[in-house]
Amino acid sequence: MPMTVQHSPSISLASLDQLWFQVAGTLCNLTCHHCFISCSPHNRSFGFLTLPAVKQRLEEARELGVKEYYFTGGEPFLNPQMTEILVATLRYGPATVLTNGTVWKDHWLEALHRAEQMSEYSLEFRVSIDGFSAQTNDPIRGEGTFDRILQGIQRLVEAGFIPIITATRTWPETSELEIVREFRKTLKKIGYTRPRLKILPALKIGAEAQRTRGYGPLDRVTTEMLDGYDLSQLVCHQSRIVTNRGVHVCPILIDAPDSLLGNSLQEAAVDFPLSHGACYTCFQYGSICTNPSSPSGSQKTPTPPPQSHA
Ligand code: SF4
Ligand code: SF4
Repeated sequence: MPMTVQHSPSISLASLDQLWFQVAGTLCNLTCHHCFISCSPHNRSFGFLTLPAVKQRLEEARELGVKEYYFTGGEPFLNPQMTEILVATLRYGPATVLTNGTVWKDHWLEALHRAEQMSEYSLEFRVSIDGFSAQTNDPIRGEGTFDRILQGIQRLVEAGFIPIITATRTWPETSELEIVREFRKTLKKIGYTRPRLKILPALKIGAEAQRTRGYGPLDRVTTEMLDGYDLSQLVCHQSRIVTNRGVHVCPILIDAPDSLLGNSLQEAAVDFPLSHGACYTCFQYGSICTNPSSPSGSQKTPTPPPQSHA
């Protein structure tokens, strides 16, 4: 019997509300076993974005009405210009940085806190940790990382930030309530009394595809599945990401050759077929990349004007 070829449904960019920056490329000081783009201290497949390159994109983004900015890697704080990049971004809109919390120095945090106080926009930190104890985190993130990440969170809280703690679900969903309870207890012990937590599904690509198993051929989004589905749950519906190669469809797929859509934000505003296994996880869980209920995306009030411009 001839096999029926399934065509993947395409998604349009509704409006470019969020712009992501792969600011540290694929370089990371850690080598987590579940990293969906296999970042490591040796992976230089994508390079750093420089301050002038980010500023150029911020100008482009302002013209197009982008509302908020996200920074990821690798580990963003390995980029020597990271603090300046965030300070510059706070003149354009709210910024969120995704970090493993093990690299920053106290004076960077102080400078960033000052910049946020002077800006009309918020600066959010998302710190990844994958267990509530060394026994649960370190087998995934590396030996000794639990203590270092926890220390990083503590320094952030002491510097006046309210970080979003993210953990990738590597446990059965039935244990989730108990695990979240344990996370809260751990964070309370370091003085983070009302933590914001975001649990993420594992994306079975990159290193995670080696750790467990990748997607099967049936793990795909179909046209029928999108009938009545709220497309705003998918980050590609309202975002793009800038890397040192150009503009890609989303922060999840930068390694996929078809994810590179153009050199400018306008060129990258084209439809994209949801043909990847990772699209299936996005469909199942929704809102993987956005912040949980938080002030991000909105202006702070009261709103003193920015003190200077780049
Ligand atoms: S998951 Fe994050 S911290 Fe871990 S290797 Fe990847 S980029 Fe680095
Ligand atoms: S992986 Fe997710 S965000 Fe990326 S194109 Fe697929 S559905 Fe969109």
